[in-house]
Amino acid sequence: MSWLTNFVRPKLQALVRRAEVPDNLWDKCGQCGQMIFHRELEAALRVCSHCGYHMRLPVARRLELLFDEGKYQRIELPKGEADPLKFRDRKRYGDRLREAQTKTGEQDAVIVAHGAMGGMPAVIAAFNFDFMGGSMGAAVGDGLIAAARLAVLQESALIVIPASGGARMQEGIISLMQMPRSIIAVDEVKEAGLPYIVVLTDPTTGGVSASFAMLGDIAIAEPGAVIGFAGARVIEETIREKLPEGFQRAEYLRDHGMVDLVVPRAELRDTLIRLIDLLRHPTPPAEVVNLPVPPAGETHGQISAS
Ligand SMILES: [Zn+2]
Repeated sequence: MSWLTNFVRPKLQALVRRAEVPDNLWDKCGQCGQMIFHRELEAALRVCSHCGYHMRLPVARRLELLFDEGKYQRIELPKGEADPLKFRDRKRYGDRLREAQTKTGEQDAVIVAHGAMGGMPAVIAAFNFDFMGGSMGAAVGDGLIAAARLAVLQESALIVIPASGGARMQEGIISLMQMPRSIIAVDEVKEAGLPYIVVLTDPTTGGVSASFAMLGDIAIAEPGAVIGFAGARVIEETIREKLPEGFQRAEYLRDHGMVDLVVPRAELRDTLIRLIDLLRHPTPPAEVVNLPVPPAGETHGQISAS
């Protein structure tokens, strides 16, 4: 029996068993439901080729996409006090933080990197939505201040890319204090006369949309991104009215003057480079040309000097 069970059966099983297929080869579009092959989706920068839906992009990939040759240096952010209020809901906030750190391999929800864009220096602070919904606590505030100061120090443009549900509830009032803190941070960049551009990605809501995210010299949004303060359902229930089609979407905000440009992901880098260049090297509003001096005797309506 042993020969049969130990030798023949495994051989037969190996013959019958189908080759294992990884189950993550296909991604489903969140808007049109199309199944898209993962390589095709990555090549399209996680934009659905059927309906143009912009799926969330991991932070590292986004930075790679924006900097020249995909090269950048990350800076280490100051380590503040974790869980200052010793907050606990169903779980300890400290445990939640550690879980998020293990899951993402990051310290908190913002990543600051610097490098070149179109040969010009740039600092990018990008939110990681996978880290507790990109929520803004003291560490994120610290990150934004570090990014702003680095931009001033290097005389480079500052680009902030929020992807956030808003305040970090577990930090209570300290989380809300990051709103004025982040505004002061980006003001330092503006006072230094350097470009400050925001790229609003899905979602930009709550305290983030109510502070630095709406203060860019230029506000860009990705197509279809949800941008707003309170959720649509809360507003509907409060005002007891049906909200218009496309409410709180990037295109709606552009049409109503809250956002300057809605830029597809594939055009984002070139658009940013063009804008930084325009903001850094402003040209005179009109070209100054020297008019030919009219021959003596002819005045052509000009006031004669005599
Ligand atoms: Zn789609």
